Amino acid sequence: MQVNWKLSLSFRARRLCMQPIKGVYLWPGVGFSSNIYLIDGEVIVDTGTGDFFPQIKNEISGLGIDISKIRTIVNTHHHFDHTGGDKKFRDWLKANIAIHAADRGALEHGETLAELFEAQAKFITADIALEDKDVIRTRHFSMEVVHTPGHTPGSICLYERKRRFLISGDTLFEDGCGRTDMPGGSSEEMKHSLQRISRLDIEYLFPGHGGPKIGGVGFLIKQILAGSLKATKAEA
Ligand SMILES: [Zn+2]
Ligand SMILES: [Zn+2]
Repeated sequence: MQVNWKLSLSFRARRLCMQPIKGVYLWPGVGFSSNIYLIDGEVIVDTGTGDFFPQIKNEISGLGIDISKIRTIVNTHHHFDHTGGDKKFRDWLKANIAIHAADRGALEHGETLAELFEAQAKFITADIALEDKDVIRTRHFSMEVVHTPGHTPGSICLYERKRRFLISGDTLFEDGCGRTDMPGGSSEEMKHSLQRISRLDIEYLFPGHGGPKIGGVGFLIKQILAGSLKATKAEA
């Protein structure tokens, strides 16, 4: 797919941040950059490539929240389009970086496919190694770590049972699942991961790329598992 950069950038410059549900802010990805989420004013999920850090910092600062409460930066997986901004966000917020144990090594050794995004590899030390069923708590939310290998070995989703939202990284998008043809990817593991999240009661899907999806998430996963929707190749 061809992206019209100028159009895309000017559009985003006017309307960078959205709040799909109360307590969840979303900065839609621009160019290679993944979506970035701020949950309950306490947790950042993914940091994009870092290219748009100054604008996002300004917008977060303008939300009127106490930024000293942002204590954790969660990476849904190690790829550069989700972790390239980690260092900038950590330097600013003095927050801890968390990533699943199986993706930690790749993040720390700079094996994040930065070259694919026309960027220099970065070496980022993680502060917290996440495991399946860990719970990340904020004042209003309780997000369970669901280990969903397939796109990468340490890909995770975050599931909030009460508000019924799933932050899905590059495991699930509004129109398909993540690609499994990159290093550490596995279509067999992706299938198991999708089967696992198909058992969750999800109303809101907050993916790593593209727009959020409200309703129909169970049906979407069924379609993917039935083979009628393929992996989305454009998104790494
Ligand atoms: Zn990825
Ligand atoms: Zn991605």
